[in-house]
Amino acid sequence: MPFRGVDFYRIDDLLTHEEIIARDTVRRFVDDKVIPIIDKHFEEATFPAQLVLQLAELGLLGGNLPEEYGCANMNNAAYGLVMQELERGDSGLRSFVSVQGALVMYPIYTFGSEEQKRKWLPLLAKGEKIGCFGLTEPDHGSDPAGMETRARRSGKGWVLNGTKRWITNGSIADVAIVFAKVDEDILGFIVETNTPGFQAPEIKNKLSLRASVTSDLIMDDVFVPEENLLPKSGGLRAPLMCLNQARYGIAWGAIGAAMACYECVVDYTKGRTQFGKPIAFFQLVQEKLAHMLTEITKAQLLAWRLGRLKDEGKVHFAQTSLAKRNNVWIALETARLARDLMGANGITLEYPVFRHMCNLESVFTYEGTHHIHTLILGEHITGFPAYK
Ligand SMILES: Cc1cc2nc3c(=O)[nH]c(=O)nc-3n(C[C@H](O)[C@H](O)[C@H](O)COP(=O)(O)OP(=O)(O)OC[C@H]3O[C@@H](n4cnc5c(N)ncnc54)[C@H](O)[C@@H]3O)c2cc1C
Repeated sequence: MPFRGVDFYRIDDLLTHEEIIARDTVRRFVDDKVIPIIDKHFEEATFPAQLVLQLAELGLLGGNLPEEYGCANMNNAAYGLVMQELERGDSGLRSFVSVQGALVMYPIYTFGSEEQKRKWLPLLAKGEKIGCFGLTEPDHGSDPAGMETRARRSGKGWVLNGTKRWITNGSIADVAIVFAKVDEDILGFIVETNTPGFQAPEIKNKLSLRASVTSDLIMDDVFVPEENLLPKSGGLRAPLMCLNQARYGIAWGAIGAAMACYECVVDYTKGRTQFGKPIAFFQLVQEKLAHMLTEITKAQLLAWRLGRLKDEGKVHFAQTSLAKRNNVWIALETARLARDLMGANGITLEYPVFRHMCNLESVFTYEGTHHIHTLILGEHITGFPAYK
């Protein structure tokens, strides 16, 4: 059955024709190409690499970057709707697209030289090269300022040493955006993964984002030529700006996972009979369905408004934090409630709910944990940073 969408507040009326076309194109793609294969990939913990060139053909890799670099130049609402539809398929697929676009292409576009942009962006947009983003380390997650990866000057370039952990796309990447300390500064580097001394072993046995590759990046005297330094990076500002781009997409993406769970559970409760009636008749069940629809609708309005603010150049990063924090939280809650209403059937891969629920546990943690976004908002409200 094609996905019907959830639009209780007629938010479609607020979208342009182009935005609806972008959304519906990806919605069909997910129905036709992703839904039929995703459970198998989740079960076998494999990434559906066969979709990469199709994602590229649809213009979804770096979709909101300019055409002159081979990208689709979508506005931010269209880009967000694309993320929503991809995550309605699976958070792992959306993670792939988020990393490629927001965490690899965006930093090259924003902090790179003109030569770096002309060299890398068209290849990444076409899916001919895959990228990853290395910020987190084994001992430094929420507080990346403590990173231990170091770069030192050597001849006509730099030598990198250190380990990054939990890196999406790591083992399949041709290129890694790596942040490393140089004295007290932090610089970004474009590291080609076939450079001697670079390894990216995959992290196995994940129970979340199983259809996505997650890896360590181990760098042992990896030489990076001077032309691969991102010249406009410096300090934590660059990686945090990248994270804000990705958080924006996640704020939309989570709605897709929530909608998938909501649609599934509404159908299920109408079809499942207990005590002589469909369970959808019972008030306790209806209360949970009403809660889900309310929260999805609020999340949609937040995301839509955030997109418009971003297109107008008026968005503040704390607004993005609010949307990421809220929308992932309500998506996870929707998935958990839907699982509950499906009883034992809710724990199988027959339905998408448990898969989404497991995935959303990672989405809740990455790109700034729920706590960290709370602290960002707390600082914005009070002026007092409470991280330390
Ligand atoms: C599947 C997956 C993919 C990922 N992909 C990438 C990637 O591509 N690139 C990348 O660089 N990273 C990636 N990450 C890493 C992710 O960004 C980190 O996991 C995240 O930043 C949290 O860091 P941590 O796991 O070390 O948890 P910690 O920072 O150790 O946090 C543990 C707990 O302590 C809480 N906590 C920490 N500090 C505070 C505080 N000051 N106040 C209150 N609570 C606090 C946190 O909120 C959390 O609940 C990925 C993670 C996962 C799970």
